[in-house]
Amino acid sequence: MNLIQIENLTHYYGNTKALENVNLTIKNSDFLAIIGPNGGGKSTLLKIILELLPLQKGKLIKNIKNSEVGYVPQNTNLNTDFPITALEVVLMGHIKTKRKLFGYAKEDIDCALSSLKQVGMEKFADKKIGDLSGGQRQRVFIARALCSNPKILMLDEPTASIDVQGQQDIYELLRELNKSIAIVVVSHDLSILLNYAKDVAHVNRSLVYHSLKDVQRNVTLGDDHLCEVELLSALGKTQMCCNHKH
Ligand code: ADP
Ligand code: MG
Repeated sequence: MNLIQIENLTHYYGNTKALENVNLTIKNSDFLAIIGPNGGGKSTLLKIILELLPLQKGKLIKNIKNSEVGYVPQNTNLNTDFPITALEVVLMGHIKTKRKLFGYAKEDIDCALSSLKQVGMEKFADKKIGDLSGGQRQRVFIARALCSNPKILMLDEPTASIDVQGQQDIYELLRELNKSIAIVVVSHDLSILLNYAKDVAHVNRSLVYHSLKDVQRNVTLGDDHLCEVELLSALGKTQMCCNHKH
């Protein structure tokens, strides 16, 4: 089932053309990785889907409600000094019933706790977000996005500046979630591309879509690891740069 369909989308910021003639369909079982250079238009694309930016040119067809699109924005690690608990972060994204004068309604708290449980963070509900590791904090933000029972979860560079174990935990979580919802993740991380994503969209103003069905999986990233260049050349694209030596 098609959840979201984008046709001939073009987007400008002033005179800067951020996206040009983009076509993309997101289906309910998709695990799509969006890659591309900085400034390539990845975040812009997500924000248009989320209707955080107006549609200027082209079509955006959504077969789901806005509330069914969960979103984890870029740079959620900012403001970690804010004195708020993991549970409160989740509650902020999830106030269905009227907020009481003091505290939250029990059903909201129960729902937030169940989202925390879904991401393996229920034990940390009362911890201040500043006391969590980067990976744990990101899982709390994922819990917040899960609160509205989304049919699609979109994450913008969720593992940037998170340690390797934390990244792995998040990928495994996304794989689990993908059993019931679509995942769209902006990432530069090869391991998500090689081991988790089902398709890749390369966005550099225009969008090129690749199915990863036929690409070799479970490549170990050791000394003779594949880099993004090699992955993309396997896909017929070679314009990404590689930031390590062979
Ligand atoms: P990415 O997420 O791939 O790094 P972005 O979607 O953030 O790329 O940006 C795409 C292009 O649009 C870049 O040239 C960027 O400078 C420009 N851009 C992004 N946001 C704004 C904005 N709010 N105002 C003006 N230009 C912007
Ligand atoms: Mg971005």
